[in-house]
Amino acid sequence: MTIVAPAADVPAAVAQEVAPALPGIVGKDFRDAWRTLLSIPSVAGVMADSLRGATGGGAVENAVAVIEGVGRAGVPAGLCYALTSQVFGIQWPLSTLSRKPLDPYVDGLTDGSLILCHALTEDTGGSDPLSMRTAARRTAESADVDGADFQIDGRKAYVTAAPAADLILTFARTDEARHPFALSAFLIPADRAGVTRSEPFEKVALTEVPMGAIDFDAVRATEADLVTTEGSGLAFLASTTTWERALLMSYALGGMHATIERVVGWLRDRQQFGGSLGSNPLVASRVSDLATIRYRVRTLVYDMARRIDAGATPLSAMSTDAAQVKISCAQDLLQFETTAAPLFGARAVIADSGYHVNATSAVAASIYAGTNDLLRVSIARDLGLPVEN
Ligand SMILES: Cc1cc2nc3c(=O)[nH]c(=O)nc-3n(C[C@H](O)[C@H](O)[C@H](O)COP(=O)(O)OP(=O)(O)OC[C@H]3O[C@@H](n4cnc5c(N)ncnc54)[C@H](O)[C@@H]3O)c2cc1C
Repeated sequence: MTIVAPAADVPAAVAQEVAPALPGIVGKDFRDAWRTLLSIPSVAGVMADSLRGATGGGAVENAVAVIEGVGRAGVPAGLCYALTSQVFGIQWPLSTLSRKPLDPYVDGLTDGSLILCHALTEDTGGSDPLSMRTAARRTAESADVDGADFQIDGRKAYVTAAPAADLILTFARTDEARHPFALSAFLIPADRAGVTRSEPFEKVALTEVPMGAIDFDAVRATEADLVTTEGSGLAFLASTTTWERALLMSYALGGMHATIERVVGWLRDRQQFGGSLGSNPLVASRVSDLATIRYRVRTLVYDMARRIDAGATPLSAMSTDAAQVKISCAQDLLQFETTAAPLFGARAVIADSGYHVNATSAVAASIYAGTNDLLRVSIARDLGLPVEN
């Protein structure tokens, strides 16, 4: 597939392309909605680019623009988040590796029959990966018996898409000591003996994608399941998180656009105190705030995409900037939702009013992909402060 530099109106064009498919997406089971979403040509193009690990030529910027268009069309936030997280947080980082661990699965990932998840967090340690308990222990004896090199045991929790996932990118300690080379990254099929996916958690944010836990109970793994060399898991995690922090908030761009359109329509029509609500300068200025926030988030996210396309290597050189973008966009998203909500009055809290605002999903943005506070600590450290977690 040829990579075409995105035209300025890609999001608008994609929104039109997605609109006819909405009945097969909104309110549907996650996997059915996912397959329908991936059947849309622009989205399929993004999947193909990310699975080739293609950067440059506007591929990453185009992916952001397509995801913005998907959100503008009215695809629910949870699905936009799932798409963004899989494309930027898993597929692109894995596909840039020399081992090309996703190559055997490209067809299934492209048509949506296979779904990925990124299983890092554990109940006992989210912010501190080096405290993880999930371990992949060398099994020298069993290697003679059945070819296994490792036995993985442990439990991951709060993992997006886990209950539906077919392939699990997971991290486990391959050394008991606490040091930067203690972790390794594996790609494990969910149907392997000893892997159990939980039922979906009852969550209140990004509800259209399930979240759950994964148990590894004496799961056999070989060298071929390692996505990078043994002991380089933390370094690879730095890559997936930099991609995520830089670009994950693209999931919200289309929703912001759609909210502003709804706000403007509502305020023009709504009559209070003998006139249109939108004619009140105080009310109107809040709409300007929404547009300003959207402009800021959009500018930051697209800038990150262009820098990656321009060959920002190593990507680790962008990690502090990506952390700043993530914090800034997460704060902005929350401010956006809390500014928009009162403009709709009571309708903001009525699920089927058409003006429902989901501030809880915005709160989640300060938690996933590295909590904002932990990112603040690493930014301060980068600036030279002697601060530790
Ligand atoms: C919507 C959503 C999707 C998610 N998807 C995934 C996924 O796909 N895969 C996955 O592995 N995980 C996922 N997570 C989990 C997420 O990565 C973790 O919740 C996050 O890393 C925080 O870990 P924790 O919940 O254990 O909180 P804790 O680590 O217990 O932290 C709680 C609070 O304490 C603060 N804190 C902790 N230590 C320090 C310190 N030293 N200094 C200052 N403050 C500190 C944190 O900033 C945070 O505010 C998701 C979470 C959400 C909300």
